[in-house]
Amino acid sequence: MSRTRETPEAMDNTAVPFVTALALYPILEALVSHLRPNDLVNLTTTCQVVNNQIRMREKQVKASLLTKTLCPGTGLQARLKRHCPCRTRGWHSYCGCGGEGYNVTSKPCISCGINTCDECRIHVSYQVYVEDPGLDGHRWWAGYVLNYLFPFAIYPPKGDDGAAWHLQPDMMQSHHDQGRLHLPLYMNGIADAEPISRILDTDLGKNDITPSGRTSRPFEGVYTAVLFKSLLANRKELVCRICFDGMYGAGLSLCSCTLRKRFLDRWTCVPCHLDESKKFDQEHRATRIYSKDGPWIDKIFCRCGDQIVPVGHYEVICRWCNGHVVHVEDDNADANPENVDKQEFTNNEDDEENAGSAPVNLPPDHMAFVNNKDETLSIYVNGSRISGERIGRSIVRDHLSRKGIELPCACCDCSSVACENHHHHQHSDDESEDVNVEASVDGEDVSDHGDDGHNNLEGLDFDDDRIGFDAEMEEDEE
Ligand SMILES: [Zn+2]
Ligand SMILES: [Zn+2]
Ligand SMILES: [Zn+2]
Ligand SMILES: [Zn+2]
Ligand SMILES: [Zn+2]
Ligand SMILES: [Zn+2]
Ligand SMILES: [Zn+2]
Repeated sequence: MSRTRETPEAMDNTAVPFVTALALYPILEALVSHLRPNDLVNLTTTCQVVNNQIRMREKQVKASLLTKTLCPGTGLQARLKRHCPCRTRGWHSYCGCGGEGYNVTSKPCISCGINTCDECRIHVSYQVYVEDPGLDGHRWWAGYVLNYLFPFAIYPPKGDDGAAWHLQPDMMQSHHDQGRLHLPLYMNGIADAEPISRILDTDLGKNDITPSGRTSRPFEGVYTAVLFKSLLANRKELVCRICFDGMYGAGLSLCSCTLRKRFLDRWTCVPCHLDESKKFDQEHRATRIYSKDGPWIDKIFCRCGDQIVPVGHYEVICRWCNGHVVHVEDDNADANPENVDKQEFTNNEDDEENAGSAPVNLPPDHMAFVNNKDETLSIYVNGSRISGERIGRSIVRDHLSRKGIELPCACCDCSSVACENHHHHQHSDDESEDVNVEASVDGEDVSDHGDDGHNNLEGLDFDDDRIGFDAEMEEDEE
């Protein structure tokens, strides 16, 4: 950036001081830092002289100025169009744009170059909400994964660093990309929360993202990591042996991508992230022929046009870094236990003294809902008592409803662009619709676990080759 340093003629200066002042780079820079990109454009289009002075027609000057403007807020707008807020009605929320004075840092987006605040850039997890006091005797936190629709429960990191999560709600700030990810708020399930740092730092050149929490009944750990499946699948290009050998000969590096490197170390505004993921999604789909009867793939093609024949005859290239992905569990991403650093699991935070009376003769895999002495919930299943943060929000809601406690409506009536994919009952004036009818039928506090919890996840993209939400949502735009 060449700086114009000459002092303007005194005569001109008195004639049009504002316009000549703009030619002084430090003044221009200071002015621009108080404008959003649109304001800058308006300023330059309203006055030809100003336009000449600011030199917005010159690509480089324009680009340089846009790295210094206030964040335009487009990332936050895109987020709000995609993230359904309906499950967290009445919670405290943390959200704002640095361009409107919200206290977050801004940096130029690595893709479009426009100065973008931390709230308008892509995060792997956005922690947006806190509920205090919360249901079931503990505080709840929630937020979103990337630009996916459903809110998830998020818990503070284990250990001392959770202190900032327990401040008074109005003193709190967002903890994006931190803490532990639990289940979607609407899901009837039990799971160990998954440390987000582990998700962020998984070496994707060698592993898929798998849960470290328990995944066998009654635990549904699989759903804490399920949203990453299509994202990670779309980044894998399958190439035939011949093409691979050619690439290898030309020098192929190993992929060592992580979500942290990809999404956090690259400061990317949400609109640029959406463009990018749309591109990967299109590239991915262009190599596949889908079955007419469902979301299954019939054929996969290599970049050379040859059909990829299964197992052992292809290699995987990472579309993010063009490196070689060496792991082999491509079709079996839910189970690679060797790579998982197992957590120490506990079933409760409270004292056994607090336990209500344990059910007798409970059949295997059946769950009994029992009130603890402090009125919180325990679930007895296969001889264990499970309570506290492991219990999904929706189970707690249903339990309280059965006890006759009225809760704020959680029907979805937002205008999220992905809402048609959202499995929810329609909002109605009759709030009693919120009560899970099936659950209240067996009212006896003992219910078969069944597969009820899974029904809610039908719309979720956990099949590798189902079309991701990113792509579908983009088509709704413009
Ligand atoms: Zn912003
Ligand atoms: Zn951008
Ligand atoms: Zn890679
Ligand atoms: Zn090929
Ligand atoms: Zn409702
Ligand atoms: Zn909604
Ligand atoms: Zn909806």
